[in-house]
Amino acid sequence: MKEIILIKNGELALKGLNRATFEEILLKNLRRRLKPLGAVEIRRAQSTVYIEPADETFPFADALEQVGQVFGIAAYTRACVAEKNMDDILEKAAVYLKPQLQKVATFKVEAKRADKGFSPASPEICRLVGGALLAACPHLRVDVHNPDLTVMVEVRDFGAYIHGEQLPGAGGLPVGTAGRAAVLISGGIDSPVAAWTMAKRGLTLNAVHFASPPYTSARAEQKVRDLLERVARYSGVIRLAVVPFTELQEAIGEHCPEDFFTLIMRRMMMRIATRIANDRNCGALITGESLGQVASQTLQALAVTDAAAGLPVLRPLIGMDKDEIVAVARKIDTFEISIQPFEDCCTVFTPRHPKTRPTIAQCDAAEASFDWEPLLERAVAGTTYSYIESTDGKGIRL
Ligand code: ATP
Ligand code: MG
Repeated sequence: MKEIILIKNGELALKGLNRATFEEILLKNLRRRLKPLGAVEIRRAQSTVYIEPADETFPFADALEQVGQVFGIAAYTRACVAEKNMDDILEKAAVYLKPQLQKVATFKVEAKRADKGFSPASPEICRLVGGALLAACPHLRVDVHNPDLTVMVEVRDFGAYIHGEQLPGAGGLPVGTAGRAAVLISGGIDSPVAAWTMAKRGLTLNAVHFASPPYTSARAEQKVRDLLERVARYSGVIRLAVVPFTELQEAIGEHCPEDFFTLIMRRMMMRIATRIANDRNCGALITGESLGQVASQTLQALAVTDAAAGLPVLRPLIGMDKDEIVAVARKIDTFEISIQPFEDCCTVFTPRHPKTRPTIAQCDAAEASFDWEPLLERAVAGTTYSYIESTDGKGIRL
């Protein structure tokens, strides 16, 4: 029996004239991702994407897992293809759905006729298919209000498709439809979640990590790579910039008042990240900050950080509680990596009494006794670049 994967686009349907462009990017993302699994035809019609394998060896379970990680998809399902006549639909529905129906007690049938020339009409399709399924599985009962399983019959231009419950897709917009941004990534819990959240809105990700050896170890940097690899399952390949930050941090320790250490470090991070981001045509920076979580995330602290950034700073976690952030981290499989205990540069030179209500003028004054420009330039010049992609076959270069 011939099977395909049917994909229902998410918000894409709302995009008016841009819709075709958005759908083409979704198709491109799907094609690149499914390519290693074997020959498939992927095409779109009527807000639906059809994934049609060339032969029976196609690994459906793997493909479904991949599809579940692609942004821009509201729902998806595997479906059986029938000819556009009721005899074939009834016969295939009973055989194809039997394994699913044996696991439930109640069901209902819904029919959708995109091809309005097809007869009979939807209510009659439902009645006939329901009858065929009851005959094949006598233990079943119809429950139109709260069924264990909803069976769908979709009669479309090129064929009829029969399937059970759809799976919820990853949502959001296809990666590559919203431009690029650079995420400031630490080894913590928050920034990988922030990266994932913005990739979900269609951004292509670059990443910037500040390393301060010997205060921070090679293991800390590896942790960042491991985290990004998980994010790349969803976002596709990520270009990572690792910035040598030791010299700047030591200079901050030497030339600035202690209660401003963290704030000035964050401002330096913003300045460097802006330069790296501009170089890659990124339109924004992304951080994992959440209002009030630590001293450097008060409204005033965020304002002085913003003042040093030359691009808009996106903070998708700003209104989230830690346990909400942790729930996402667990869902995307970054949590266990994030809690590994390797020191981040933020824990170097931590002030005993960090300033929680700084003003921009105070920060400017705290930075004034030193010429930072040569150090900023050296940090950018010493930055090393690499590409991170998911290596376990779960997600590939987009
Ligand atoms: P996270 O869990 O993401 O580390 P956090 O709650 O520990 O966040 P901070 O350490 O204050 O908060 O960092 C705030 C944000 O600054 C991070 O979410 C991240 O975007 C950025 N950041 C912090 N340290 C680094 C670093 N070493 N390299 C790049 N970005 C960093
Ligand atoms: Mg941190």
